[in-house]
Amino acid sequence: MRHASRRWRADGEEIGLVPTMGALHAGHLSLVDRARRENSKVVVSAFVNPIQFGSGADFARYPRDPDRDARLLLEAGVDAIYRPVAESMYPPGSSTRVRVGGVAEPLEGAARPGHFEGVATVVTKLFAAVAPDRAYFGQKDAQQVAVVRRLGLDLDLGAEIRVCPTVREPDGLALSSRNAHLDPRERQAAASLSAALRAAARQYATGERDQAALRERLLAPLEAEPLARIDYAELVDPETFQALGRLAVLAVWIGNTRLIDNHDLAETFPGQS
Ligand code: AMP
Repeated sequence: MRHASRRWRADGEEIGLVPTMGALHAGHLSLVDRARRENSKVVVSAFVNPIQFGSGADFARYPRDPDRDARLLLEAGVDAIYRPVAESMYPPGSSTRVRVGGVAEPLEGAARPGHFEGVATVVTKLFAAVAPDRAYFGQKDAQQVAVVRRLGLDLDLGAEIRVCPTVREPDGLALSSRNAHLDPRERQAAASLSAALRAAARQYATGERDQAALRERLLAPLEAEPLARIDYAELVDPETFQALGRLAVLAVWIGNTRLIDNHDLAETFPGQS
């Protein structure tokens, strides 16, 4: 990967990187499209990064379909698919980890110990291999975006971070590789996340600014759904991810599948009015 990247750079090409864990969907492909428009070469990495998963079970059952991914990415016109194997990313003796403080600590950081350390470490390694001019991330993982921005500034990684809007199903469910785990009843129940974000956005649009009232609106659709178990549902500052603020962030178990989503209440949610 580094050889290809160096050659391109010497030829004056600009490189866009889209980091993914594979099992691609239209959300990933929206990042690829944007990267194609803004760079002369596009690299998509597809690596299910073991060190960002908590339980071995979640890692083991994470969906994988490398042949389909390759077909989709070739159709999308990418220049390289970077698919390292875990044994080369983390060979025996590997012991360096990148830990981001501050913004990486609340919410996902608290709920999934070690998760952002795994993310920051793999992003650092991917940036070292690809040396992108620009790297593309989804708003779907809003706190991850903040962590990667902090990482890029603190370690002078050089790539510009660009953020793309969340791609959703017609009923509002954010596309996610983990949606493949949902059975039909759970898929219905998963719509409670977008219903919660929509309800809070609707309330905010009426002029409501009381945090407790907005949070009540956010919680109601989740509490009404018997298959949903709330991990967190908060209103936080969109920069720091500390309470209080207008970014609604959710992590909700639907059966054995943990889904996350978020929405800035100052923006209109699909199907809001
Ligand atoms: P993942 O493969 O889940 O690690 O995601 C790879 C990248 O795609 C991350 O930057 C995600 O935020 C982004 N992404 C995942 N789902 C969506 C979505 N529904 N809309 C936009 N971007 C997404």
